[in-house]
Amino acid sequence: MPFSALGLPATLVRAAHELGLTTPTPIQSEAIPAILGGRDVQGCAQTGSGKTAAYGLALLQALQSDPGHRPRRVRALVLVPTRELAAQVGEVLRSLGQYLSHPLKIVVVFGGVSINPQMLGLRGGADIVVATPGRLLDLLDHNALRLGSVATLVLDEADRLLDMGFAQELVRVLAQLPVQRQNLLLSATFSPAVQKLANQLLREPVHIEVPATQANEPTILQRAIAVDAAQRTPLLCQLIKDNGWSRVLVFVATKYSAERVAEKLYKQGIFATPFHGDLSQGARQQVLAEFKDERWEVVVTTDLASRGLDIAQLPVVVNYDLPRSATDYVHRIGRTGRAGASGLAISFVSPASEAHFGLIERRQRLTVPREVVAGFDPTTAAEPGPVDRSGVPGTGGIKGKRPSKKDKLRAASTRAE
Ligand code: AMP
Repeated sequence: MPFSALGLPATLVRAAHELGLTTPTPIQSEAIPAILGGRDVQGCAQTGSGKTAAYGLALLQALQSDPGHRPRRVRALVLVPTRELAAQVGEVLRSLGQYLSHPLKIVVVFGGVSINPQMLGLRGGADIVVATPGRLLDLLDHNALRLGSVATLVLDEADRLLDMGFAQELVRVLAQLPVQRQNLLLSATFSPAVQKLANQLLREPVHIEVPATQANEPTILQRAIAVDAAQRTPLLCQLIKDNGWSRVLVFVATKYSAERVAEKLYKQGIFATPFHGDLSQGARQQVLAEFKDERWEVVVTTDLASRGLDIAQLPVVVNYDLPRSATDYVHRIGRTGRAGASGLAISFVSPASEAHFGLIERRQRLTVPREVVAGFDPTTAAEPGPVDRSGVPGTGGIKGKRPSKKDKLRAASTRAE
């Protein structure tokens, strides 16, 4: 079924085609008519399923068919958890809306950069605002915008919004919105907290679920390599060189590790750079742009910095340190295999992190066979790993499975033997 059959005008269909969107993904086929019909939507979809264009196309169509008022009033508000996702969503909306006969003004606001240009950007109003909650509240405090005309609220990556502690900010933002409005809530996972938020927010929503098994969903090959923690960097170098990988996202547990691992790879002749929350916003955007342009082969990153990122054709993700939770695992590996492309997610499993990986497998109801690469056979026996600066076991840990005081004492005595 083509996009035009979903009630979208030629201007939007043309822009979608230019972005490589020719056939709607399942979430687009279901969500676009529902949104255009004014319904609330509860969408369970990973990044990579095409969810941004799903709500983006519908919002643009709805707003352009109702040209609105002068000065412009914010009629659609998209809340996202991270600066990077805000920038990305803004970019997609602008590209999709480029041929509209009544151009819509889309303003993107997020923290970590000066507020003044954003205040200037909001002068004369805006049709769509894409925002992270904290900066949006700052701008509201500065009277830089009003939300009294918002007809549609989108919560994108609602699970991340809550994980990142934005619950209070959400309450304050919601209080400024008209009661009568359309709500779209999208989330990769529906924990009890997310479901509670959905129940509070949504009125008789259309439920859209895009199970990970559908053909259009990321096809990610998951592999696990057993290796001693100390051998992970040499193993990573060898894998990158042997397989000729030119674009790899490597996840580590801490900002410090991101710096250290990137530096070690760089010294081995691999173009690697760190990416984490301590870098300035400008530096982060530059790294992403250069990674997309293939000027970096490897970006070594923490969890926080890489949520929601869409790096087209990212073929390989490596869990150098395991994520702390099964949910984070899903988010990490979801960086590859986007929009039907195949992807590879490799996890390094050391004897100390074996039990953690087992838990991730169980939570996901999957089994990933352990592989061994010649020359990197694990030699150490399974024992609790060294505790790094963050207090997390060196190879990552699982939420709720942190070592107790007793575990640490036991580990210390085992090491001393
Ligand atoms: P998401 O993060 O879920 O919005 O997915 C974004 C990725 O999916 C981007 O790389 C888009 O270009 C791609 N995408 C979205 N819709 C389609 C489509 N209908 N056909 C092909 N690729 C798509």
